[in-house]
Amino acid sequence: MDLAARIRDVPDFPKPGIVFKDIMPLLADAEALRETVDRIAEWAEPRKPDLVLGAEARGYITGGALACRLGCGFVAARKPGKLPWRTVAAKYALEYGFDSLEIHADAIVKGQRVLIHDDVLATGGTAKATVELVEQLGGEVAGLPFIIELAFLNGRDKLTGYDVFSLVQCD
Ligand code: AMP
Repeated sequence: MDLAARIRDVPDFPKPGIVFKDIMPLLADAEALRETVDRIAEWAEPRKPDLVLGAEARGYITGGALACRLGCGFVAARKPGKLPWRTVAAKYALEYGFDSLEIHADAIVKGQRVLIHDDVLATGGTAKATVELVEQLGGEVAGLPFIIELAFLNGRDKLTGYDVFSLVQCD
């Protein structure tokens, strides 16, 4: 199936000059959603993850499905102040701004293998921050699968030494 055909380009969102990759048409298509989760799970399975970590907010949708499919638990990385328990935090730069992410301090047990998942790999800042969160808690990064990779932004350069995978590459 042509998954790329189910990703909508929205020019100048949320800022002029950004082409937003909208995965809602892909999520709304049952077959495309299943194929997305199945293909990422196929890549992830041999890496033997214990947990899937999804970044707010679109990383939760396919991340939750992926965790279920792999028999893993799910960890939510959220924007500051949203989680109710004690947290650890990491700052990052976005393609369009700055932000930080938090996870619960007890979300990962030392030695657990964590698959880091998001819809889009752009500059790699978000993914790098989630790597820092996992490693702060003594987790091991099992791999970083994405639905879309904006290859021209070279996000992989921030993730040297880690196992990165994407289903759709955009130049
Ligand atoms: P980055 O930290 O630059 O790799 O940005 C990745 C995060 O920002 C992901 O959570 C994406 O959902 C979001 N993002 C960045 N750029 C885009 C884009 N062009 N289209 C859709 N989402 C994006």
